[in-house]
Amino acid sequence: MPELPEVETIKRELKPNIINKKILACIPLRSDVIAYPKPKTFCRAIIDERVTNVTRKAKYLFLELTNEKKIVFHFRLSGTISLRKLHVKPERFTRVIIKINGYQLFFNEPRVLGRIYLLKGKKRLPFLKGLYNLGLEPIADAFDLPYFRNKIKGRKAKIKALLLDQSICAGVGNIYSDEALFHAGIRPLRRAKRITIRETAKLVRTLKHVIQKGIDNYGTSVSDYHRTDGKDGNFQKFLYVYGKEDEPCKVCGTKIVLTKLGNRSTRYCPKCQK
Ligand SMILES: [Zn+2]
Repeated sequence: MPELPEVETIKRELKPNIINKKILACIPLRSDVIAYPKPKTFCRAIIDERVTNVTRKAKYLFLELTNEKKIVFHFRLSGTISLRKLHVKPERFTRVIIKINGYQLFFNEPRVLGRIYLLKGKKRLPFLKGLYNLGLEPIADAFDLPYFRNKIKGRKAKIKALLLDQSICAGVGNIYSDEALFHAGIRPLRRAKRITIRETAKLVRTLKHVIQKGIDNYGTSVSDYHRTDGKDGNFQKFLYVYGKEDEPCKVCGTKIVLTKLGNRSTRYCPKCQK
């Protein structure tokens, strides 16, 4: 669930608190969450290293450490991070605790699908294939009409599936794709090749807009996602279709429809979206 705006929020909130600080301890409460290397090796390798930067790529978060090490957080469906003072007890779904000079970083994951990796130097891990195959993020300047048009042109796939394709729209997930399609007036199940240039241009604009607005509002808290201090994000107040099935459309009053795209759910307004 955490998409680009949620992970960007986590990055912005962690960075000022943990940069230049030393990792003091690593406590896996569910060791399978540490996917690489083995939990013991992982913990031993990060202790005593200093955090040199906190960065993000699409939906991945990185703690860059001294000695060319890099912790990768992949949140998957329900992973989040909270940052707490040292005396605070772990939360219900805390799977890994990393103690960083004065703080504890809790990696919380109710569904235990999210994973943590440690990279060293330029070494690539085969199971992080998704990370090496990312397209542009919609907020990048280079994500423009020619880029996007070129990716979707002539494709039989449904437009929503292409918005969820990380090699095309890095960082986009179910929330922001549903919202961008609503504002562009395009139904999620339309085939990409049937979408006009004018509609494509509009979709590029609405994608950039909803993602930027998501960042400005600290992400969307509708289920598991919270900010690193436990507070909710704000973007749920600006949702038009995501999670709004059976509610009247805020624009035209028609009931929002819930449908399926493969195994993903998708919502749209049958009147506002063609
Ligand atoms: Zn409507």
